[in-house]
Amino acid sequence: MKISNEIINFLPEIKNWRHELHSHPELGYEEEWTSNFVAEKLESFGIEVHKGLGKTGVVGVLKGINANQGGGGNKAIGLRADMDALPMTEENEFSYKSKFEGRMHACGHDGHTAMLLGAAKVLSLKRDFDGTVYFIFQPAEEGGGGGLAMIEDGMFEQFPMDSVWGMHNWPGMEERTVAVHKGSVMAAADRFEVTVNGSGGHAAMPQATNDPVLATTAIVQALQQIVSRKQNPLDSVVVSVTQINAGSGFNIIPQKADFIGTIRTINPDTRINVHKQFTDICEATALAYGCVADVSVIKGYPVTINHADESEKAIEVASSLFGAESVKTNLSPSMGAEDFAYMLEKKPGSYIWLGAGEGKSGCMLHNTKYDFNDNVLPLGISYWEQLVKSELPLR
Ligand SMILES: [Zn+2]
Ligand SMILES: [Zn+2]
Repeated sequence: MKISNEIINFLPEIKNWRHELHSHPELGYEEEWTSNFVAEKLESFGIEVHKGLGKTGVVGVLKGINANQGGGGNKAIGLRADMDALPMTEENEFSYKSKFEGRMHACGHDGHTAMLLGAAKVLSLKRDFDGTVYFIFQPAEEGGGGGLAMIEDGMFEQFPMDSVWGMHNWPGMEERTVAVHKGSVMAAADRFEVTVNGSGGHAAMPQATNDPVLATTAIVQALQQIVSRKQNPLDSVVVSVTQINAGSGFNIIPQKADFIGTIRTINPDTRINVHKQFTDICEATALAYGCVADVSVIKGYPVTINHADESEKAIEVASSLFGAESVKTNLSPSMGAEDFAYMLEKKPGSYIWLGAGEGKSGCMLHNTKYDFNDNVLPLGISYWEQLVKSELPLR
């Protein structure tokens, strides 16, 4: 594993940035302190900074060494990090723990931001590549669709790039390993809201009612057949009902019942089919109980699908750094979701998992005791550095 001297020299500083970011977590679209921090750092490296894309997003523009001579390639790539934190209270006790109750960097976006800043710093020293690197710092990855907001603000028109690249730290996967999926890597995450309308009345006279509680329990049972009977067992699907609300008293059959939950799929065609099966089962089952189901399926993040050629390049770069045996290419996708999916719908690219080891006390993402593993900072920075040199080689 070769880590450049520049990265080794700057590592203590980059680690400090990571800790500063960790202690200042901000929720989606509120990343004011964070985006100022990022912008100031980029400016101090001599990188052109554009703020305010997707409200709090930041893009840094760095051109290769030949750009000033009128030469330089026209190729451009985008490297993306996410900046937002989660609405939860940290239970760690170290010096750089969150300063704020109810806000925490529990997904490692502090580490992602620090690694991309580190790569920007190292690449800005010699600019020994040919073309343009866009450093994309996006807001609101955790459910707010900040990546989409930047695209809708014209990011790809303002900063035309040939490909986009992403990375997420992955606890539970050994340090110094990388996973690259050659297709789907993260699931589509959709939400449903259903109201089952019946007719209420006295609980002692059910014959005069159409009971929405009974209909709802039947629907929840019937929905289980989507995964068990309608689905190819090799194509993963999740249908989870997570909340049911009905009724106001022990002797009243209510007028209606509501339930909500989530559908996860890793194949865009399956996603469409499952939405239809879901709606059909809700409506038909309700009808069998004399009720009417009002169904909304609200689309969330799409499936995150890596592009084949770019994934091969990611594998090449990671193999050159970590050794081919440390690059996993056959892992199953995660049923979690990722809004880098929107960028990959517009541009070719690849999103990798960076092994983060067992972590302190073995905590996984979104745990109140999770902390980004600083050991992987130089590994992620090296990946970015090598990716730029390999995608934008000096001629
Ligand atoms: Zn997360
Ligand atoms: Zn995350």
